[in-house]
Amino acid sequence: MKPQIYLDVDNCVADFSLHVTRTVKSQLDSDYAECLERSDRGGMTWEETFGMSDDAVLAMAHAEGHRWWESIPEVADRFKNAPRCLRLHDAMKGLGKVTFLTALPKTGPEFAAHGKANWLRTRMGSKFTDFIFCMRRHKALLAAPNRVLVDDSDENCEDFTNAGGCAVRYDATAFAHLPNEAAAIEYLSKAVRTALRSPGCPVTLINKDKR
Ligand SMILES: [Mg+2]
Repeated sequence: MKPQIYLDVDNCVADFSLHVTRTVKSQLDSDYAECLERSDRGGMTWEETFGMSDDAVLAMAHAEGHRWWESIPEVADRFKNAPRCLRLHDAMKGLGKVTFLTALPKTGPEFAAHGKANWLRTRMGSKFTDFIFCMRRHKALLAAPNRVLVDDSDENCEDFTNAGGCAVRYDATAFAHLPNEAAAIEYLSKAVRTALRSPGCPVTLINKDKR
């Protein structure tokens, strides 16, 4: 049976970190570039990154409603050689069935669902429906041996593998050392194939420039 690949959206194909940082830029006491760098490290709360609560950040974002989510730039606009959404999706289709799997925030989930659907349809076609929106903790309910989660969150990858699935910890900065987008797609494809052979332990893409 063909594998099922669940592709995360925020910080995998949509540059959520950059968009949040730009949104709170005017409120930041500390250096913008430093906050951007910190927001990319993963595992940090917005309180730690910006000194603002999740609710305060989302309140600023949701002043624009669903349009805030629709206007998130693509990851490929910032990270050298990171694959664009459509090409990454097409490449993954060669490995299995691909479904976008993305979490909604507890604050303003209706704005996020509306905006994320439009964000994906802008890139994948106006009738595109191959996506699942859920709360973060529910991603692991989809775990099974022939299913791979591609996600930037360590916690999501661990929850998915602990629930019996396979996972690739996605990090767009890991593509910086590669010569082009095609090489980045091949690098990720190889990680997905490896993850399918080794359920129970997330495969992590490595940024060789940072070692
Ligand atoms: Mg994510």
